[in-house]
Amino acid sequence: MLPLPAFTDNYIWMLHDGRQALVVDPGDSAPVLQALQQLDLQLQAILVTHHHADHVGGVDAVRDATGAAVYGPAREQIPGPLRRLAQGDTVDALGLRFEVIDVPGHTAGHIAYYCPGIDGEPLLFCGDTLFSGGCGRLFEGTPAQMLDSLDRLAALPGNTRVCCTHEYTLSNLKFARAVEPGNDALLHYSSQCEALRARQQPTLPSRMALERDINPFLRVRQPAVAQAARGYDAQVNQDDAVAVLAALRQWKNEFR
Ligand SMILES: [Zn+2]
Ligand SMILES: [Zn+2]
Repeated sequence: MLPLPAFTDNYIWMLHDGRQALVVDPGDSAPVLQALQQLDLQLQAILVTHHHADHVGGVDAVRDATGAAVYGPAREQIPGPLRRLAQGDTVDALGLRFEVIDVPGHTAGHIAYYCPGIDGEPLLFCGDTLFSGGCGRLFEGTPAQMLDSLDRLAALPGNTRVCCTHEYTLSNLKFARAVEPGNDALLHYSSQCEALRARQQPTLPSRMALERDINPFLRVRQPAVAQAARGYDAQVNQDDAVAVLAALRQWKNEFR
């Protein structure tokens, strides 16, 4: 599994078995075609999570160059032809089965791809819904939808490798520390990630169990997180997880 860097902070995830490959969200065709050539791989499938240009910009060029099948969300405009997917659908590629999970919030029709077992560990491609230490901005969905989507992802097994599309980890963790300054796991993880980035290495994939311990957007029912949200906005009812999530998201938008 390879995170191919694209633009300033995107990763185009490539999974391969030495002969065949799949890619997720090829916003740019160049890094994908280059990796396929360098590793002498044949592209079988292109998985798309949502319609933003930095995720679909390279789809046509990669399809034209490789003949790979394209899969994407049923409810969004993605350059066709593609197989349109929604909750409960599956994709078979590289001898693996990926389950589609609806995760609206960042966009209205955003989907994620979950593979229960590969090399003994589950794998999740979650696009711009869940980031390490954070979550996507609410461009098209409501806080209630995003909370529901994040809850669904957080319920996946703890050893799930979480493949997010952006290297936003350090800035997310800076915000997370402002929310939960007393979270030791968060402080420890922050120094690990800072060391990785100092060596220009990706902080991803993350693990779901870790995200449940350090990601404030997965921790809106923790008293410390709810209290911090109320510190930001005194109107927030600490027992209302949707209101806590909405306040955290607003706070993060303004946070520097
Ligand atoms: Zn996006
Ligand atoms: Zn993006």
